[in-house]
Amino acid sequence: MPSLLIRNVRPMGASPVDVLVRDGRIAETGAALSAPADAAVEEGGGALLLPGLVEGHTHLDKTLWGMDWYRNEVGTNLIDKIENERAFRHASGHDAAAQSLVLAKAFLALGTTRLRTHVDVDTQAGLRHLEGTLRTRQTLREVLQIQVVAFPQSGLLGRPGTAELLEQALAQGADVLGGLDPCAIDGDPVRSLDVLFGIADRHQRPVDIHLHEPGAMGAFSLELILQRTEALGMQGKVAVSHGFCLGDLGERERDALLARMARLGVVLVTSAPPSRSVPPLMACRKAGVTVLGGNDGIRDT
Ligand SMILES: [Zn+2]
Repeated sequence: MPSLLIRNVRPMGASPVDVLVRDGRIAETGAALSAPADAAVEEGGGALLLPGLVEGHTHLDKTLWGMDWYRNEVGTNLIDKIENERAFRHASGHDAAAQSLVLAKAFLALGTTRLRTHVDVDTQAGLRHLEGTLRTRQTLREVLQIQVVAFPQSGLLGRPGTAELLEQALAQGADVLGGLDPCAIDGDPVRSLDVLFGIADRHQRPVDIHLHEPGAMGAFSLELILQRTEALGMQGKVAVSHGFCLGDLGERERDALLARMARLGVVLVTSAPPSRSVPPLMACRKAGVTVLGGNDGIRDT
């Protein structure tokens, strides 16, 4: 790997310096560094120099990026959107490999070097989206670190065979086990989370659960998630995506949940959508909960 000398940049906003990169790592910073014979030299023009950005929650496999505009005319219920999306992708022959590559490159061009993507696993598409996304991960492995979540977007219990597909997905290269609204989508939160955490425990994988459920319903699911995290010794291995309920609850109930999340190392991932109440960032920070940001779906159905 040739060396790279970047002149006149401001690391994390500090005063302008030159930065010498050798073997992919910063070897030296300082004023007017001399360029090694093999080094490529770039003029930074006084720009800000930051570490690569981390995308905490997206769906590379779903995107219609670069395709025709899709007009979504389905109902407002989450399950309507889920059914519509699955049917569209099935009928249109949507190519998860090609589409995930296009969006991953768009992330990369804007400075993202690590991302976590939730990939749909369901009994209609099987592991097609996973295979496509794994191909993209392989293609970009030198420049972009992609962490893949096997995600039961159509529910875990409602469509028999989904749990087995999730296990296969983990065996075939998915890094993390995903989950979804155990009350609102699965209708049986205890069984849903027992199945989910059972798979995670057997495969010793982290879990990342989409929790869109509002208010008391979401708080109940979150409680069950925290219980299982503790019982299985999965501290530091569980993430809750969205956690909208935390934006609905009264302060005392919310803060009690946040304190337990902090204690169990349960991370909160938010895309801060304007259409929902979201977990208040300052309260999360105060409680010591790690909060990560993500773009979620980008131009999907
Ligand atoms: Zn999502």
